[in-house]
Amino acid sequence: MKDGWNLWHGCRKISEGCANCYVYRMDAEHGRDPATPHRTAAFGLPLRKNRAGEYRVPSGSTLWTCFTSDFFLEDADAWRSEAWRMIAARPDVEFIIITKRIHRFHASLPEDWGAGYPNVRIGCTCENQRRADERLPLFRAAPIAHRFIVCEPLLEPIDLSPYLDDRIEEVTVGGESGAGARICDYAWVLGIREACVAAGVPFHFHQTGANFRRDGRIYAVPRLHQHDQAKRAGIDFSPITKHYTP
Ligand code: SF4
Repeated sequence: MKDGWNLWHGCRKISEGCANCYVYRMDAEHGRDPATPHRTAAFGLPLRKNRAGEYRVPSGSTLWTCFTSDFFLEDADAWRSEAWRMIAARPDVEFIIITKRIHRFHASLPEDWGAGYPNVRIGCTCENQRRADERLPLFRAAPIAHRFIVCEPLLEPIDLSPYLDDRIEEVTVGGESGAGARICDYAWVLGIREACVAAGVPFHFHQTGANFRRDGRIYAVPRLHQHDQAKRAGIDFSPITKHYTP
C-alpha cells in the first residue's frame, strides 16, 4: 500500500522552487497562514492500531511524508524526534522524505541513525543548477541508506553529471503545476536523462507541469494529463530497480 503521512502542515519558502508553492496557494484559499506550521491529526499514524490490535498502516506499506511541509523544517524541530521514534518502530514500512533542507539533515538526526535507517528513502530537491551545486554535495556525503534526486519543478537546464553515481537510486524530473506555473522545457528533461543514462542511474519523468515547451512550442497541459503526458513520452530509464524491501 502507498499512502501519505502528513505529520505537520505549513512551511517557509527557502528557494526558487518555492515561489509558487501549492501549500501557500491552498492556505490562501482557506484564509490560513502557511508560515505558522502545526502538527496534524495524522501525526501518530504509523503506530495507530485497529480494534483487532493490528497496525492501521499494514506491513510492507510505503508512506510519503510531509507533503504540505518539509520534514527538516526549523519549526518542526520539537516534533521530529518523536517522528523518528515512530519511523524506527516500523522497520516493516518504507518512509519517503523529500526535502529542500538537506543542510539541516545532520543536526536533525536521531542518535541511533548510524549509516541511515534502512526503511527511509531521502529525496533531495534541486530545481536549478545553483541549488544542485549547493545541496547535492551535502546530500552525497550524508549517511543515508537510500537516496534519490528530485528536479521538480525543473526551472532550467541542470548538469547533474558531477553528482551521479551508484549511490543515487533514481532521479525524478517534473514541471510546475498551478496558476502562473513556470515553463518546463523538454530539452532540459532530456539533458538530465542523458546524464542519468551515462551514469547508469534510473531516471523517471514524473510529470510535464502546466506549461510544457517542446521544440520551441509551449503547450498548456491540464492537471489531469500532466502525469500521463510524461508517461507517454516513454523516456523513463531503469537499468535496475533499487528500493527498500521490508
Ligand atoms: S519547501 Fe516545499 S512545502 Fe516548503 S515552501 Fe518550499 S515548496 Fe512549499
